[in-house]
Amino acid sequence: MHEGAITSQIVENVLREAEKRKAKSVLEVHLEIGKLMFLNPEQVRFWYQMLTKNTILEGSKLMIEEKEGVVKCPKCGYQGDFKYINDDPAFHVPTPTLNCPKCDGTVEIIGGKECLIKKVKMLI
Ligand SMILES: [Zn+2]
Repeated sequence: MHEGAITSQIVENVLREAEKRKAKSVLEVHLEIGKLMFLNPEQVRFWYQMLTKNTILEGSKLMIEEKEGVVKCPKCGYQGDFKYINDDPAFHVPTPTLNCPKCDGTVEIIGGKECLIKKVKMLI
């Protein structure tokens, strides 16, 4: 249901924007989603189709760009990708850890939690 709630907020925002500009229809919506939001893009698409039915967003293309998480280490100043571990057979994908890849200290998350509407193409 996580995806449903977030997608409905996105759809509402795009609709409001389209109404403001008196758009006839919306053609494309570009989203930027941080990987740390743990949203399943397929679920987002599913909800998007459901929620845009009978609105001017119906039939529009949804483009999803996934952004990697970014961490910062207060100890050594490292900034960049997560350190991933993938030696756990229970996970099919590498699991991000909160350990600094350089000094093994605890890092802070500074990126990857965004959920932005980057661009909307509409017919006015
Ligand atoms: Zn460090």
